Amino acid sequence: MIPSYVTGRPTGKETGDYLALDLGGTNLRVCLVTLKGNGSHEIEQAKFKVEDSLKTGDMVDLCDFIASSVDAFLQERPHLTGKHLELAYTFSFPILQTAINRGTLKQWTKGFSCKNAVEKDVAILLQEALSRRGLPVHIAAIVNDTVGTLLAHAYRHPETAMGVIMGTGSNACYYEKIDKIQKWTRPENIEDDEMVVNMEWGAFDNERRVLPMTQYDNKLNRESRNVHQQLYEKMVAGMYLGEIARNAMISLIDHMLLFSGESSPSMNTQWAFETAYLTQIECDTSKDLSRTRDILENTMGIPLTTLADRQIVKHVCGFVGRRAARLVACGLSGVLSHCGQIGQPTVVAIDGSLFEKYSHFEAYTREAMEEMFGQASVEKIRFDHAKDGSGLGAAIIAMIADQHHLSA
Ligand code: ADP
Ligand code: MG
Repeated sequence: MIPSYVTGRPTGKETGDYLALDLGGTNLRVCLVTLKGNGSHEIEQAKFKVEDSLKTGDMVDLCDFIASSVDAFLQERPHLTGKHLELAYTFSFPILQTAINRGTLKQWTKGFSCKNAVEKDVAILLQEALSRRGLPVHIAAIVNDTVGTLLAHAYRHPETAMGVIMGTGSNACYYEKIDKIQKWTRPENIEDDEMVVNMEWGAFDNERRVLPMTQYDNKLNRESRNVHQQLYEKMVAGMYLGEIARNAMISLIDHMLLFSGESSPSMNTQWAFETAYLTQIECDTSKDLSRTRDILENTMGIPLTTLADRQIVKHVCGFVGRRAARLVACGLSGVLSHCGQIGQPTVVAIDGSLFEKYSHFEAYTREAMEEMFGQASVEKIRFDHAKDGSGLGAAIIAMIADQHHLSA
């Protein structure tokens, strides 16, 4: 539970040009956001792929890559050359913030493991890289993607109570009464009575006391880059679901219950069964499961599959996907009941490819929440897909930090 230093709700009247960066886990996005007041905005953006070598190399190289991406983005827009710009840095890893634009990395997640980063201030490291390139860009805020998603959605829909990410990783944030936040004391210049708390819910139950982990989860955890960390995230997020299903299929193969006991080099490779395959198989409604056959035989290299094999695989994918949605329902329910929102009209803003592309996810989540609170209460909760909202949300936070002189 990390105080975000973002207090109060946006009004929709905010104006100005702001840069936003989003380092999510898969891509780096650079955005120019023009806030126009009256709840409207324009956004221009470019995506840069983060190569695996950057995720495991030295932090200086990652920061130089980010700075060079900002440079490339600005060079394509000559009207911005030389202009001083405030930037919000959406850095979606566990950061202990000490100010709105200062924060030390506690640990890497989502397959990142850059050296010389943990316990360092990631805003200062990036500011140094921007300076090395001579860019007149000032980091006004460090933003968690959940917080950006919440603020972007609240800019248009003030009743938004939570921001949630279901992408490579999973996390959530919500508005908490400042009086209840024991880790932070309100300074005199802050009048708002709420602050957004970044839950880092991916780390829930790292003590392994309540989550019903299976042997397939344990194997994934053991073989991951962050053993015994982010255990809830490892059961629900896009990076992991395919791998859990692969572990289950390997076990069925070893028991001679699948593919006549024959595996393939791809099927034996860690991470090779992507979560996108899992969702495509679960949503395959063709009679002979032809899409499933295509994935198993042509992509995963299984020599021959029977209809029974494909049905088993479809069940495995369904179990893993539905369990993820139901575990997320637990997280959402915990927060919404803590905030007294059950039974009230409530909006949850959700971003991330898993939520966007897995068409059954929302229905499974609602089904589990209805089991807990009844249909009438759950009908009042709306899940909005806040697509790429974090760029806009980050810009709003940069604006707040800039105008209220909050940044160091
Ligand atoms: P990030 O988390 O880096 O911001 P995204 O929100 O795009 O990025 O999430 C990327 C993750 O989404 C990948 O880890 C992948 O597992 C998952 N994903 C991509 N496509 C699909 C799909 N069709 N179905 C389910 N999951 C998907
Ligand atoms: Mg993202």
